[in-house]
Amino acid sequence: MLRARTNLPTVLLLLRWADYLREGLGLRIPRVPVTLGDLVPPRVGQFDRRTRVITLDAGWVRASRAGGRWVSVLSVLLHEQVHLWAAVHAPGAESHGPEFLAKALSVGLTVGDDGVNTGFVPGGPFLTLLAARGVR
Ligand SMILES: [Zn+2]
Repeated sequence: MLRARTNLPTVLLLLRWADYLREGLGLRIPRVPVTLGDLVPPRVGQFDRRTRVITLDAGWVRASRAGGRWVSVLSVLLHEQVHLWAAVHAPGAESHGPEFLAKALSVGLTVGDDGVNTGFVPGGPFLTLLAARGVR
């Protein structure tokens, strides 16, 4: 549905969605660069604490967008934004520690102990925001 409405280059679309998620979920995080790069599989997203840049794997994003799995891309973008949240609000916390997991859950994202997204909270903030913007 989203793909039919826009021909925006993917990186611009990701930046727009980073704003929707940041503002719509009340994350209280700064606006940071979102880039596409080549990550080492199986990793598809990365937040660099030093530079505060979010990188998503270009090939995976391209395939996901083409395959109608945009929700999956957005869930990884949000995951990396929660890392940014932790860097700002819980700087001493471990990468996927209790603070991170609780924040992720509070915005509607479930993450396993291994740091990999496992799903969404039904009716939670993330899915509600997506539904309001016509994405499912
Ligand atoms: Zn992570």
